[in-house]
Amino acid sequence: MPQLALVGRSNVGKSSLINALTRARVARTAAAAGKTRELNLYAVELGHRSLRSLYFVDLPGYGYARGGHASAEAFAGLTSMYFGRPAPSSGPPGDGGGYGPTGALLIVDARHPGLPQDLNAWAWLSQQQPLAVAVVAAKIDKLSRAERMRALRVWETSLNVPVTPVSAATGEGLESLWTRIIELLTSSPHPSPPPSPRQPPS
Ligand code: GDP
Repeated sequence: MPQLALVGRSNVGKSSLINALTRARVARTAAAAGKTRELNLYAVELGHRSLRSLYFVDLPGYGYARGGHASAEAFAGLTSMYFGRPAPSSGPPGDGGGYGPTGALLIVDARHPGLPQDLNAWAWLSQQQPLAVAVVAAKIDKLSRAERMRALRVWETSLNVPVTPVSAATGEGLESLWTRIIELLTSSPHPSPPPSPRQPPS
C-alpha cells in the first residue's frame, strides 16, 4: 500500500487537508500550532481502479518559531529517518510499519509565496530519489481571485513546478488534488535523467 507523505510548515493546514481529502475526521487537527511531533499514518480506502488504497503520512511541521529547537529536531530527525526507509513494494497491504514514502506532497501556504523554508524543503524533497513529489498551495480561500493568480504565479516561478491550489475549508481544488495524487502514486517515480552521451573530442 503506497504511502504519501505530507510535508510543510507547522500550521500550514496538513491535518485539515487530510481530513478534507478523506471527508472523515480521521486526521487529528492540532489546537495549538506545532503540536504534531510524531509521524501519523492514516489509512484511506479509495476503491479507485488504479489505486485501491493509500496511507497519508502526516509528518511534523517545520519552521514554527514557537516550537523552537525541539520542533526543528523532531522535523529533521523523524523526517530523515522516515525518508530513509524503502518504499513499500506492491504486495498485500500491511500495516505500513517500517516502510518509507512512495510519494510526497509539499504543502505551502498560498498566501506566502517563496518562503525560504519552503524553498529549502522543496530542494531537499526533490532530491529524494526515487520519489514522486508535488506541491500544493493550501488555504487558497483566503485569497481573492486576483491575489490567487499572482500568488500561484510566484509559487510556480520560484519552485519551477506546477502547484495545485486547494482549500480544506471550502473543498475547492480537492478533486484536482485527488487526480494529482493518483497520478503521482501510479506513475513511476521521476526517473533520473539518462547520462548525457559523451561527445567524442572533435
Ligand atoms: P497543520 O499543523 O499543518 O496540521 O495545520 P492544521 O490542519 O492544524 O491547520 C492550522 C490552522 O489553519 C487551523 O486553524 C485550521 O482551521 C486552519 N486551516 C487549515 N486549512 C485551511 C483552509 O484551507 N482554509 C482556511 N481558511 N483555514 C485553514
